Amino acid sequence: MSKFNWKNLIIILCITLSIVFILLLIKINTIYADGFEENIKIIACYEETLEEKKDFIKWIDFKVDSKSLKAVLKFCQEYRQKGVELDYSQILAYLTIKNSNKFSLSSTEANLKKLRIHLDGGGTIDDIYQDNKYYQRNLESYKAIFDGIVGDFRKGQLEDGEYNIKDDIEYGIKAFFPIAYGFDFTHYDDFGANRSYGYKRRHLGHDFMGQVGTPIVAIEGGVVTELGWNKYGGWRIGIKSFDQKRYYYYAHLRKDKPFIADLSLGDKVLAGQVIGYLGHTGYSDKENTNLKTGSPHLHLGLQIIFDKSQEKGSGEIWIDLYGICNFLIGERAKVIRDNNTKEWMSLSIKT
Ligand SMILES: [Zn+2]
Repeated sequence: MSKFNWKNLIIILCITLSIVFILLLIKINTIYADGFEENIKIIACYEETLEEKKDFIKWIDFKVDSKSLKAVLKFCQEYRQKGVELDYSQILAYLTIKNSNKFSLSSTEANLKKLRIHLDGGGTIDDIYQDNKYYQRNLESYKAIFDGIVGDFRKGQLEDGEYNIKDDIEYGIKAFFPIAYGFDFTHYDDFGANRSYGYKRRHLGHDFMGQVGTPIVAIEGGVVTELGWNKYGGWRIGIKSFDQKRYYYYAHLRKDKPFIADLSLGDKVLAGQVIGYLGHTGYSDKENTNLKTGSPHLHLGLQIIFDKSQEKGSGEIWIDLYGICNFLIGERAKVIRDNNTKEWMSLSIKT
């Protein structure tokens, strides 16, 4: 019978303890690793939460036709004259729910008729959809688009080189059509058409074909935030509305003399003021180069901004301007030419 070997037992015990120790180390590492993973999740989650808190509108599917825009304005003016405080955007938001964003003059008229019965019976537009989140979202979108286009305004006339602003406040279209009165143009709905210069993309604006040198008028007043050459837009002017919600982009302006004299970045302009001249520049890294194809035209863009992050990049929101431009067609600024400076000036502005 062999003698019990204490030495062997101690070796076996040491090996077992070592294995247990190694297993424990592995386990501890795993716990730490899990903890680390968990921290990453928490940080990501926090960022997500922050992201969610930035609850602003990410896109707008603007589809209102010009005839509906006119009908709504008439309706709104009629009720305001009766002393009913109706907001233009409220009616558009109401109609959008009623017609599921499929606008036509006939559906607009039919739904305005229903609204008329409700209002004449003593109701308000807010009674109808006050708690509807889609209504609230639509209202915010339409306000961002139309607060600079429809509302209270004052007229100003050019007198001795200065605009004399009248005291009377009117309610209606406070914006101008971008092509000055008396200058020919053609246009069609070209929003979303394919463009290929530089990279494949959609046409996020509206083009007016016209003669080189046609005076271009500011649709809405604001601050000049972009002025100069851009390899896509050529000579261009960017004007941000005073409330920062709308950015108007006027591009492909005239070679050699694109802007009115003395226009500078940071300048304030009024609705109706001449800002520059129609041309044919762009699609080149080289400044003051005309487009190789197509005909002279104004490229007009309207960007809606709910949050600073949407100013530049993938979050940009651009609106189809076809309906709005046809809505503004009666609001063309008359202009005169200074024969000494060869500069055009608008006779009337709105503020
Ligand atoms: Zn264009």
